[in-house]
Amino acid sequence: MTSPDRARLTIDLDALAHNRDVIAAEASGAEVAGVIKADGYGLGAGPIARRLHAEGTRSFFVARTSEAEALRAELGGREATIYVLDGLLAGASDRLAAAGATPVLSTLPQVSAAQARAAAHGPYPVALQVDTGMNRQGLTLEEARAVAAAPGGLRGLDVRLLVSHLGSATDPAETRNPEQLARFREARALFPDSRASLAASAGAFLGPDYRHDMVRAGVSLFGGGPEERPDPRLRAVATLTAPVVDVRNLRPGDRVGYGAHFTAARPMRVAVLAAGYADGVIRAAMGKGFAWAAGARRPILAINMDLAVIDLGDAPLTIGDHVELLGPNAHIDELAAAAGTVAHEVLVRLSRRAERIYIGA
Ligand SMILES: *Cc1c(COP(=O)(O)O)cnc(C)c1O
Repeated sequence: MTSPDRARLTIDLDALAHNRDVIAAEASGAEVAGVIKADGYGLGAGPIARRLHAEGTRSFFVARTSEAEALRAELGGREATIYVLDGLLAGASDRLAAAGATPVLSTLPQVSAAQARAAAHGPYPVALQVDTGMNRQGLTLEEARAVAAAPGGLRGLDVRLLVSHLGSATDPAETRNPEQLARFREARALFPDSRASLAASAGAFLGPDYRHDMVRAGVSLFGGGPEERPDPRLRAVATLTAPVVDVRNLRPGDRVGYGAHFTAARPMRVAVLAAGYADGVIRAAMGKGFAWAAGARRPILAINMDLAVIDLGDAPLTIGDHVELLGPNAHIDELAAAAGTVAHEVLVRLSRRAERIYIGA
C-alpha cells in the first residue's frame, strides 16, 4: 500500500535493465560490470544487484569492505565477483576472504600485504589499479613497472584485472582522455595476462578505444547521461514524487519560506510539497531547478527540510496530487546542474524518509 501523504521514491529496475542494455550495446564486446558502491548509489544495493545479476551481470564494484560484505549477503548464493575499490586495507584481508571479495590494490603497501597473504594462503586473485592521470588512486606507472619486474615475480598475486579511471571522460574533447589511454596501454603491456578496464559510465561512450575488456558502469545504469546532460537513450531509474499539501495564493511582495530567496513580483499560485532536503531534494537547487506537474516545468521557489514550494502557474493541481521532483521529466542531470553538483550526488542524497517502491524486483 502506498501512503498518499508521503514523498514516494520509485525505483524502476526495468529501466535499470534497459540502461544496462544500452551500455552493453555501446561498449559491445566488453563486459559491463555494475558499480554499486554507496548502497547502489543510494537506491538499494540488494535489489539493484539481484536484478543486474538476472540480466547477466557477474562483476560488481563497491568502495568499502563493509559494502562487499553486505553485497555478498544480498546476492545469496549467486555467483559473482565483487571488487573492492578500497583495496586491501589493514585488517581487512580475512573479511575480504570471508566475503569472497577481490581487492583492487592501489598502493605498494597493499601489494605487499596481498603478497604476504598469498605466501600464507596460496595464489591470491586481485585487481590492480594504476593511476594514469587522475592523481587520486592507483600505483604510478613506475610503481607498476617495479611490481611487474620484481626479481621474485608477482609472488603469488594472480592479477585478474588491471583498472584505471578517467578524470575527464564526461568531456569527449578533453585531451586528458587520450593521454590517460596512452598511459593505460603502457600499463597493460606490463600485465599482458590480465584483463583490463579503464572506462566508467562516461568512458564507455568514448568509443571502441576505451572499452577494453570491461566497462565499470555506475551512474548511467541509473539514467545519468555520460556527458552530464540528459541522454535520450537512457531511462530514469529513480523517480521522486511528493504530494501537494497546500495551494496558496501570493500577492506581489509576499516572500516564500526563509529569508528573501523568493519574493512574488505579481499575484501567483504556489503549491507546497511534502518533500525537502531531508528527502534528498538538494537545497542548492532552490530558485534554479524545476519540478514537473500537469505536463509542464514548474520552478522550485523554496526547498526547506520537509517542504518545497513550487510556482504552480495555471496548473490545475489540488491537495494530494503528486508532483515529480526527479524522474523521467525532471531529469537527474538537470536537477544536478541546478544544484551545482553531479547526478551521482543527487542519487546518493535520496534519503530513507520517502516511501520506497521497487518496480521489476
Ligand atoms: C565510482 C566509480 C566508477 C563508476 O563511475 P560512474 O561515473 O558512476 O559510472 C567506476 N570506477 C571507479 C574507480 C569508481 O570510483
